[in-house]
Amino acid sequence: MTFPKVADCVDVFETLWPPALAESWDSVGLAVGDPEAEVRSILLALDPMDSVIAEAVVLDADLIFNHHPLLLRPVDSVNASTLKGGAIHTLISNGIALFNAHTNADSARGGVSDVLISLLGIEDAEPLVPHDLPAATEVGTGTGIGRVGDLKSPTAVREIARTLAARLPRTTTGVRIAGDPGAEVTRIAVCGGAGDSLFEAVRDSGAEVYITADLRHHPATEARDTANRHNGTPHLIDVSHWASESVWLDAAAAALEAEFTARGFTVGLQRSAVNTDPWVERY
Ligand SMILES: [Zn+2]
Repeated sequence: MTFPKVADCVDVFETLWPPALAESWDSVGLAVGDPEAEVRSILLALDPMDSVIAEAVVLDADLIFNHHPLLLRPVDSVNASTLKGGAIHTLISNGIALFNAHTNADSARGGVSDVLISLLGIEDAEPLVPHDLPAATEVGTGTGIGRVGDLKSPTAVREIARTLAARLPRTTTGVRIAGDPGAEVTRIAVCGGAGDSLFEAVRDSGAEVYITADLRHHPATEARDTANRHNGTPHLIDVSHWASESVWLDAAAAALEAEFTARGFTVGLQRSAVNTDPWVERY
């Protein structure tokens, strides 16, 4: 059995989710870890919360493959008494590396939004905002933020919401509709995670429903007013940020398993059992 080093893992991750696909404001890649260290097991998670790091310690994982960055904004200290510094100390003192693929995983083919729209049976979706990487760049083909595609037949908005509720992990905040729940629609746009910056692209795409997460009052009301001055679309379906992305982790694990095996490496891959959706009760 050949176990990969952290550097081998980084190479696998960056082949599947090229860092060139990340947005310019993002932070992706190896945040903590020694490239020369051996990796026998990897824990896959969405959020580098203390509870996930504690899980990695208990499971004796050597690397956490994570979606959201631990260090998005610059820090000037890793003092262990600070939030980020404490996490970094725990990781290093337990020999655990931390890698994240964020907007590059959103944009990649087979990425977060592709998996989300595939829950509705749409397998040939196009990017909502295609990457404008040079055409010669192979990784740029068919990549970009969000996805748009068509259902096989017109379906009521509430049926789409119910399907999502059944196929996404159950969450406290559930699945919410803004617009007309009874409207029959075919063209669907999605963006896993927070997608309230994409309304213009959604309108340009002709989508009749937009599925995303973290929709706040003002962007949602303004989007509905804009829709109502035209033909009422897009209707909005708001899902849990965590749920919208957690379905991608299974696809990521399968892609990693295939890529490590193809390279002759043996490594344990385990999905975090910690639910990092912050909302726990609703009245
Ligand atoms: Zn996210």
